[in-house]
Amino acid sequence: MADRRLLMIPGPIEFEPDVLATLGERTRSHLDPTFIEAFGRALENTRKVFLAGADSQPFVIAGSGTLAMDMAVANVVEPGDSALVVETGWFSQRMADILARWGAKVTSVAAPPGDAPSLEAVRDALRQARPKIVTVTHVDTSTGVRADVEGIAKLAREHDALTIVDGVCSVGGEVLRQEQWGVDLALTGSQKALGVPPGLAVLVAGPRAMAAFRARKSKLASIYLDFAEWLPVMEAYEARKPYYFATPAVNLVAAYDTSLGKLLVEGMDARFARHAKMASAFRAAWQAMELRTVPVREHLTANTLSAPYFPAGVDTTLPGKIGAEGIVVAGGLYPTIKTQYFRVGHMGSIHPNDVLATVGAIERALAKAGWKRDGLSAAAAALSA
Ligand code: PMP
Repeated sequence: MADRRLLMIPGPIEFEPDVLATLGERTRSHLDPTFIEAFGRALENTRKVFLAGADSQPFVIAGSGTLAMDMAVANVVEPGDSALVVETGWFSQRMADILARWGAKVTSVAAPPGDAPSLEAVRDALRQARPKIVTVTHVDTSTGVRADVEGIAKLAREHDALTIVDGVCSVGGEVLRQEQWGVDLALTGSQKALGVPPGLAVLVAGPRAMAAFRARKSKLASIYLDFAEWLPVMEAYEARKPYYFATPAVNLVAAYDTSLGKLLVEGMDARFARHAKMASAFRAAWQAMELRTVPVREHLTANTLSAPYFPAGVDTTLPGKIGAEGIVVAGGLYPTIKTQYFRVGHMGSIHPNDVLATVGAIERALAKAGWKRDGLSAAAAALSA
């Protein structure tokens, strides 16, 4: 029988058959009218998925989430600018690294792994650092911690700073209202809650981020990252006109168009609610199986992934054992606690059947490792609540 293991890591995820079918269609010219239509529609729909304003500018570029981070920073930061990183895990630290490489003076406001700095701590750091830019990782995939993007963006505005949100593990799964929350630039990769195989970097820059880019005194040191090169491309495709700067990932963009169409048919609020419900079933299972999670409080716990600690007597061989039960999960990632926990992704097309199959496999693998607990009943009860 074909490999029926379910991919439950925090990206890439299981993709919908029609998205994969689009990806496998014959490759068209990037100047083919039907591709121009698909790309243009995908750009329009990107704004709707990010709940971004009509005056925001989407960019869809071949590359992974890290390219989106690099591109966001490269375009709004000039050497010597000050930046504040709200640190909730390893990916926030990557953002600090990227900021430093583009010449920013970086300050971090951090918390121990599993926690997030309070809004008071962020306010104090803003007062001290007076940054031009604040970055926040909406869901840090290394810890499963979800930051209060709405609260942080509001504070950043009050201190006249731009907010950049790394939404790689959130956009399309966690509530993110870019316009309403005053987020100046949000970014993601295709392979997580947007439901498209890896390979697209997606950014939406609001008017203040675009103004900061236009006010630059220095030219970007990279041609591929430069908004100035990509802006005419995005504007042309949205106006349903051809334009060439660098070859777009034609098949991925077409698959992205198919996937965004599906997201919008479901509706963003319904999608956020579905993710919340699936996550609540996982939380009920962790509790019933007496597994502590890395996020230290419920409101810090992401809806897109879970990060449970191994119980006593269980070690890093557990993810492999869960794999043998038919479910692919991920190991730990945050360096200082890496060997103490595992991660389960639950985003995108996540369905109650996937939750039950996953909890069942974890329950069986744990039992074989000597930790016999019933998680399935609690997950099933939460799903039917
Ligand atoms: N930020 C976050 C929050 C992520 O989860 C990831 C990927 N796991 C990245 C950035 C980097 O994305 P990519 O691996 O697509 O470069």
